[in-house]
Amino acid sequence: MAGRVLHRAGRQPLAPVDEAVISGCGRSEQEWSRSAPLQTLAQTSVEGLLADAQRLVVVSPHPDDEVLGCGGLIASLMQQRAGATPLLILSASDGEAAYADDPSWPPDRLAAARRQELIDALAALGAASARVVSLALGDGALSARREALQAALAQQLRASDLVLVTYAGDGHPDHQACAQAAAAAAALCGARLVQYPIWAWHWSDPDSAPFLRGALKLALSETARERKRHAIAQFRTQTGHSDPAPRAPILPPWALARFHRPFEVFLP
Ligand SMILES: [Zn+2]
Repeated sequence: MAGRVLHRAGRQPLAPVDEAVISGCGRSEQEWSRSAPLQTLAQTSVEGLLADAQRLVVVSPHPDDEVLGCGGLIASLMQQRAGATPLLILSASDGEAAYADDPSWPPDRLAAARRQELIDALAALGAASARVVSLALGDGALSARREALQAALAQQLRASDLVLVTYAGDGHPDHQACAQAAAAAAALCGARLVQYPIWAWHWSDPDSAPFLRGALKLALSETARERKRHAIAQFRTQTGHSDPAPRAPILPPWALARFHRPFEVFLP
């Protein structure tokens, strides 16, 4: 998620996030629970999303985005297809710059911790068999390295994949660069692309939420929801439960609430 900008002041973040849209606590889950556009979304299913795809590929700017946005889908897929549909996670960066101001979490240490957290989270989703590829293109650097990112993604994708990626209008440069690079790489090989919002939940107006036009809602079973909750808890450096704890965790309870919902939203 790489939301260090939420808590930083007086220093230029590595990723020039538009702080006019990503700052403070953003829109609360309580506001979203009353959102008419969100309540009236058309429903989809695992089968509906996967359709004839032979593999699910999730492109993630930072370790945690794939679980925050798609953890319920992954858990449901593993439950329903028992591993018959392979899962590939493409981590564009290791999220190593999340606590650039915190001497307890220098980039090398944080990168290693976050890679392990992702492995633990996938196991919690029942997806220990997933293949994870760390592209290590640099937290905060994905926009500047978009061509390299696109080339790296193109090497991995096949025509028969369903590719999930962060929303192209998410408001975070790394998230948007991933969307642009994945869209281009998927178009090259003919793979189908679906986006998932992360930061849009933070800054978008729940009463209008234009990004939800045409979006689909995937209801999660109690089991899938519980697995997702457990998976999110593995990102201890992000939730503030690591040792040492970061001074300003990226995922406090108000941010997590948006991802503990009994459903996920996808933008075909
Ligand atoms: Zn992110």
